[in-house]
This record gives sequence, structure tokens and C-alpha cells, in this order.
Amino acid sequence: MFRIGAHVSIGGGYPEAVDRIKDIGGNCAQIFSGSPRGWKVTSPDDNEIEAFKRSINESDIKPWIVHSTYLINLATPKEGLAKKSVEALQKELDVTSMLGIPYYTFHPGAHTGAGVDQGIKNIADRVSELEIPDNVTLLLENTAGKGTTLGRTFEELNRIVDLSDYGYGDVGVCLDTCHLYAKGYDFTTKDKLGEMLDDFERTVGLDNLHFIHMNDSKHPLGSEKDEHEHIGEGEIGDRGFELILNHDILGDKPMVVETPVDKKGFEWNIEKCRKLRS
Ligand code: ZN
Ligand code: MN
Ligand code: MN
Repeated sequence: MFRIGAHVSIGGGYPEAVDRIKDIGGNCAQIFSGSPRGWKVTSPDDNEIEAFKRSINESDIKPWIVHSTYLINLATPKEGLAKKSVEALQKELDVTSMLGIPYYTFHPGAHTGAGVDQGIKNIADRVSELEIPDNVTLLLENTAGKGTTLGRTFEELNRIVDLSDYGYGDVGVCLDTCHLYAKGYDFTTKDKLGEMLDDFERTVGLDNLHFIHMNDSKHPLGSEKDEHEHIGEGEIGDRGFELILNHDILGDKPMVVETPVDKKGFEWNIEKCRKLRS
């Protein structure tokens, strides 16, 4: 079944997010479990958890995914920041589990001078320190590659999983189309998408891809700039999304848009994806 949704706010409580995604025509969704630019995690009480679960079952809006706070950096050479990051990530994973949400995604982090190999080892070591709940898969999100950010390539994502004590199953991948394109992955023709997926299959494997962030890119291929655009209106254009939406395997992965918050809104972008899927 085709699953397309958007990132929605939990303002007013987790059950409110279900109404928000319903209102804009989505049938799956992403949320933060607190303030995206703070360390505070919003722990729901039993009543709120019950109401949330009841609401998603009644409306058949699923799967859900929690996106980590942006402050988390598992690649950092700074011990203090690493400790805070692991603690926050753990708390968020626990909330994800309590809510019965199967996926949690985060940006692997930036090595800020420690070097690529050390940065990747740092991420893997800190992932190993986590207690990943049985009902949650921890997803690494690919990055646009700006500065010293890691998880830019499929090979880097796979190395992180390889080096950690966890394996695929407990850990997986979430792909962001804007980040892919900004990093230099072209998927705007059938052949190029095929080549990209061959590379993915050789490294991570398509079975370990659990979610797709559907965003167009404001900046050209390889620019390494992470700025999202409305679907079809950026450098990727309609064709790239059409190919993904109609692909045998990719088209069956749950998708959410994280497009700019302006007049067009998520509703427009969800509708656009539905139109491009023939
Ligand atoms: Zn992200
Ligand atoms: Mn994303
Ligand atoms: Mn982004």
C-alpha cells in the first residue's frame, strides 16, 4: 500500500499529531519527541499513549517515525557532547518504543576535525552503547555532506552499522532525496536511479531501507547544501520523484515530505506525490 505523509507537530500532545496528518491527507507521519533544537524529551503519560495508539489504529495512519533532535552528534570528539547525545538519543528511543512507533531516525553526526575514520568509529561505538528497544529500528539518515558531516554515502552508512555491535535488523537506513542529490547521487533518469540502487544494494541493501524523506533540492547536484524545496520545483524536478514513486521496491517504502513551510504547505506536496505515482 502506498504510504505518504509529512512531518507534523506534536503541539498539544501526541494524539493531536494524528489529527494534523489526517487534515492534510497523509496516511503515515513523522514527529519530533520534543523540541528539535533542545535536549528536552516530551514523555507521554499512559492516557496519552493509549489515546495516540487508539487514534492511529482507528484511522489506519501508519507507520510513524520519530526524528531525533538536531543537537545530537554521535561523531563528535568532545566527550561531554557525546555523553549528552547518547543520553538524549536513548530517552527518545524509549519514548518511541512506549508510543509503539517502529522507527527512529537521526543524522549520524559531524566529526568536527577528528577525521572521517575516527568520526565513523565514534558513531559506531556510541550506537553500541544504546539500548535499542526490541520494537524499534534505529535508522541512520544519509546527509548532504556539508562540512564534516558523516553518513554522506551508502558506504559510510554501511561502515557505521558494520563497526557497531548491532547489525541490520536493530539498525537500518532512512534516505532523504534532497540529501542524496546534494551529495551528488543523481537519480533523475532510469539508468542513473538503477546505478544508485545497485550501489545501495551492494552496501546497505534495499531490505534495510525503511523510510524515505521526499524533498526536492534548492541547490544543484553535488552542491552539498541541505536546503529543501517543494516536490518537483527544485533541482531534482518531477522526473526524479516520478521514478522513485513508481519504482517496484522504493514505491512500497513509507515516505514523508519535509518540504518548506510556506503557503504551499505539506498538503500540496503530498498531493503532488500522489499525482506523480501513476
Ligand atoms: Zn533528518
Ligand atoms: Mn530528512
Ligand atoms: Mn535536510
